[in-house]
Amino acid sequence: MKKIAVFPGSFDPFTRGHEQIVRRSLSLFDQIIVGIGVNSRKESFFPLEKRIHWIEKTFADEPKVAVDVYEGLTIKYCEKVGAQFLVRGLRNTIDFEFESGIANMNKAMMPELETIFILTTPELSALNSTIVRDIIKNGGNAAPFVPAAIDLYAE
Ligand code: ADP
Repeated sequence: MKKIAVFPGSFDPFTRGHEQIVRRSLSLFDQIIVGIGVNSRKESFFPLEKRIHWIEKTFADEPKVAVDVYEGLTIKYCEKVGAQFLVRGLRNTIDFEFESGIANMNKAMMPELETIFILTTPELSALNSTIVRDIIKNGGNAAPFVPAAIDLYAE
């Protein structure tokens, strides 16, 4: 059976930390769906179209990676696309506390779905999308923190 994983997040924007998690997932799964979770009541900093485009561009040469958008419960989306695995990145103990609660709740709701945690490497563990947005809002250069294929300023 094809091993399908969903890597969910808001990816506002997609960072090198996210990219590393996807690349390290490639040897584990046959397909990785980067699922952009949208909440119609919450406005994002970058428009959805740009977020999709940047992820597609980053993995243009990687047929195993697909990008999709979903609304609502992540487990329902996993069920819909036939994913058996949910991938999350762990940067620190705060992520662990937060993520373990969600993973346990997801396990209670959908026992057949396995959450797989991938530990971030130290050089990327301070990176998050909020910091990248703050750098941009304040006129700094955020290019080193997003995948090489993404030009935050030109596109
Ligand atoms: P959310 O909106 O669910 O917090 P994010 O877009 O911030 O989603 O992140 C999605 C996933 O990527 C989460 O599992 C998060 O822990 C992980 N992640 C975010 N930044 C990094 C990073 N620097 N290194 C590894 N994983 C990361």
